[in-house]
Amino acid sequence: MAGPIPHIAGSTRTLTAQQLELVGLAAALGRERFAPRAAAIDRDARFPFDNYADLRAAGLLGICVPREHGGLGADFTTYVMVAAEIGRHCGATALTWNMHVCSTMWAGFIADALDMTAAQRAEHARIRALHFDRIVNQGKVYAQPFSEGGSAAAGKAPFGTLARRVDGGYVVNGRKIFASLAGAADYYGVLCTLDVPGATQRDSMYLAVPADAAGVSVFGDWDPMGMRGTVSRNLDFKDVYVPNEARLMPEGLYFQAASRFPHMFATLSPTYMGLAQAAYDFTVQYLRGEVPGMPPVKRRMYPTKQVAVADMRVKLEQTRALFLQNARDVQVDPDRDTRMRLYAAHYTIMENANDIARLAIRTCGGQSMLKSLPLERLYRDSRCGSLMLPWTAELCIDRLGRECLYEPGERDEVIE
Ligand SMILES: Cc1cc2nc3c(=O)[nH]c(=O)nc-3n(C[C@H](O)[C@H](O)[C@H](O)COP(=O)(O)OP(=O)(O)OC[C@H]3O[C@@H](n4cnc5c(N)ncnc54)[C@H](O)[C@@H]3O)c2cc1C
Repeated sequence: MAGPIPHIAGSTRTLTAQQLELVGLAAALGRERFAPRAAAIDRDARFPFDNYADLRAAGLLGICVPREHGGLGADFTTYVMVAAEIGRHCGATALTWNMHVCSTMWAGFIADALDMTAAQRAEHARIRALHFDRIVNQGKVYAQPFSEGGSAAAGKAPFGTLARRVDGGYVVNGRKIFASLAGAADYYGVLCTLDVPGATQRDSMYLAVPADAAGVSVFGDWDPMGMRGTVSRNLDFKDVYVPNEARLMPEGLYFQAASRFPHMFATLSPTYMGLAQAAYDFTVQYLRGEVPGMPPVKRRMYPTKQVAVADMRVKLEQTRALFLQNARDVQVDPDRDTRMRLYAAHYTIMENANDIARLAIRTCGGQSMLKSLPLERLYRDSRCGSLMLPWTAELCIDRLGRECLYEPGERDEVIE
């Protein structure tokens, strides 16, 4: 692309030194390592192990691990910008890395913002230090399987996977579907329900199950339309024993987090912000006749293409504006308007990413969708965002519609 490459945050004026440094690091890794590998990872639907070796070497597995535990100590705002930059070069790497980073974010600054007794907090501090050490010093990777095919991952029912208390730990039984990093992670951060009579969503647990523990198996095919490098196969847990130290959050804290810290689910969309930027970047390069390996045919002089690119840029800037606002709005107990902006931002990023990729293909034309170029992969990958629970595009719209029209606790009179 001629001229300076646009920054994922648009203007860099208000960025902190750490944000500039880490986004720069992600951009260099993305351009030099991840982008050249992306086509093969997609074609073979295989996990990007080489990219993880690079993330590990760069310290990015510990991006949200607090500095006192040897991590980079990045906050939410910094993390989402770095994740978007990685998504710009390889969607599957960004999305799976998000699952890993969430385990450190949820056990880290999100847990810090929630209520715990002094004893719970001390025990959590002891246990999370073990997990942080594994990540920072041993380079271990954590996945985050919570989907089960029913309504638990949508937040509407308790998880069907159960953790029964036993001496010194828990025994886990259940199945997860769509577990990104299946067969690649060292630990599965399993969302499950404490096996007590009458258990509800308040009894949710978040346990790190070692991938090599007895009773853990990966099953099912993996040949999807997009995000093929995530290798999101199914997991079976049959009488898997884990010690108390497997707790990534104290018993019951996940429910509090999900109710009071909704930004914890907004970490899925930065990948798609990156995909939107990538589709735009490609279009500009293509219409200027600057795609490496292609004849230098310029197509920029046609007014209809200029209009289409302007339309893409408008959508991209709308998307980025909400992405950045959402990144900076992060807080515990956000007010109702902040929550609604969050749903609107998440929805917009997921839907616009695919719409920008659609416009890119229509505008660039037939040759642009050949498998030898990245655009058709961006189109397929970007379609996946709106399907991801708990905030699918439909569920964002459901929540927004309800919350726009009803005050908390309001009900309609039943008309006979
Ligand atoms: C590339 C990719 C990677 C993924 N990685 C992971 C991962 O690492 N970990 C993980 O846990 N999951 C992951 N997922 C799964 C994802 O988050 C969803 O759980 C999954 O796509 C749900 O599939 P489904 O067909 O069962 O969904 P759906 O049938 O759409 O939804 C499942 C259930 O949610 C409820 N629901 C859905 N829509 C509504 C609605 N409008 N109103 C009320 N209830 C509703 C219903 O009860 C429904 O049965 C991934 C998905 C993709 C595409």
